[in-house]
Amino acid sequence: MKPTLVLVGRPNVGKSTLFNRLTRTRDALVADMPGLTRDRHYGIGRGGSRPYLVVDTGGFEPLAKEGIVAEMARQAESAIAEGDALLFIVDGRVGLTPHDKQIADTLRRSGRPVFLAVNKGEGMNRDTFSAEFHELGFGTPYVISSAHGEGVRQLLDLVLESFPKDAEPGDDDEAGPRVAIVGRPNVGKSTLINALLGEDRVIAFDMPGTTRDAIAVPFERNGKAYTLIDTAGLRRRGKVFEAIEKFSVIKTLQAVEEANVVVLVLDASQDISDQDAHIAGFVLEAGRALVLAVNKWDSVDDYRRERIKAEIARKLYFLDFARHHYISALEVVGIGPLLKSVDLAYAAAMIKLATPKLTRALQTALTKQQPPRHGVYRPKMRYAHQGGQNPPVVVVHGNALEHIPDSYRRYLEHHFVETFKLQGTPLRIEFRSAH
Ligand code: GDP
Ligand code: GDP
Repeated sequence: MKPTLVLVGRPNVGKSTLFNRLTRTRDALVADMPGLTRDRHYGIGRGGSRPYLVVDTGGFEPLAKEGIVAEMARQAESAIAEGDALLFIVDGRVGLTPHDKQIADTLRRSGRPVFLAVNKGEGMNRDTFSAEFHELGFGTPYVISSAHGEGVRQLLDLVLESFPKDAEPGDDDEAGPRVAIVGRPNVGKSTLINALLGEDRVIAFDMPGTTRDAIAVPFERNGKAYTLIDTAGLRRRGKVFEAIEKFSVIKTLQAVEEANVVVLVLDASQDISDQDAHIAGFVLEAGRALVLAVNKWDSVDDYRRERIKAEIARKLYFLDFARHHYISALEVVGIGPLLKSVDLAYAAAMIKLATPKLTRALQTALTKQQPPRHGVYRPKMRYAHQGGQNPPVVVVHGNALEHIPDSYRRYLEHHFVETFKLQGTPLRIEFRSAH
């Protein structure tokens, strides 16, 4: 499991500035998608020694009882309970406040490891700047500047070092694609899982010691092996799976990160909500292969069917690389074809492309359309090699490639996807200039 770092602190101490710094990625995929609904509170960080999840709890108000604020408070509380490390941010320029002390008490009660960061420390003497915060009782505070990036990398490395490294996926006895079934509450995830698994198809099942562990359930369908990554509070009760916990964003994100292929379940009887779009945005950000399952197809009339299709095309247009399935988990209709798409998406995500093949495809793309000149620069692409799988990363080498516009990057993406018939996975392009 990727460690989850949770940012906590009162408003204006610099949490979202730090969040942006921790989740910044050179990857243009998300930035390229105008209108993609990103949830500013949850992100993937790849800047440290290993990947991690970051949660910004926003303006942490533990006392709210109702409405949106209460829901945010509930998610903040669950983030604190589920986080692997709590980064407690205070404002060194304002100094220690009573609100900081209240938050400190809440964090102490959680029993989670707490790292205290005194922010806005640029140009300050570290010792005097952080002196008064020792009183909070979390040991020596780390002085950082989120805005200037000072001390952030060191703090990050320190936090990440405190967690045991994951075994590399594929090292263990799991076989086949790792599949996560995600979606907001009540769309039919547990019904779908039960339809997929059937009690006789589960090969082995161990209830882990604590709910913090992901549950991986190996199963077989049509002679093929899969491993189901448990999500968001789905637990096995007797012979069947059911949702026994409240929806947890963090568990959903963790499952997405653990999976090779994500099945995003939507409810055909409801319009696409922000929560659907946030989860979709996260799958895209994680670069996972994806299959869309529009569930409860049995329960909707033609009007609704057209409407949900239009909604998906409009609000989730950035998932057009994924296959769409209209299914009924309850009546077990459409499950076979859905799994077939999981297989195809997995194969596309794990494809291996030899350098000569990729370079030939690059040259064909260039013959059809040259990248535009940028001032005196004419970007020159020489060859391409594969830099990663799941998602496939194509690294293009050449000169002056930093001047390639996003539109041309997208053109290349489409060209590679078409050439190698990669259905169901996003593909990423990185440019490397020799200068
Ligand atoms: P949040 O409410 O905790 O998410 O805080 P924000 O990230 O929105 O930051 C609040 C204010 O503090 C903004 O005006 C930031 O520009 C500023 N800020 C954040 N980090 C730093 C820093 O390291 N140094 C200074 N001087 N200002 C900062
Ligand atoms: P989860 O919270 O996403 O795990 O959703 P559940 O699997 O618990 O399903 C929520 C509700 O939707 C239950 O009442 C299910 O019986 C119902 N449901 C699930 N799949 C279907 C379906 O394909 N058709 C219909 N009509 N109802 C379904």
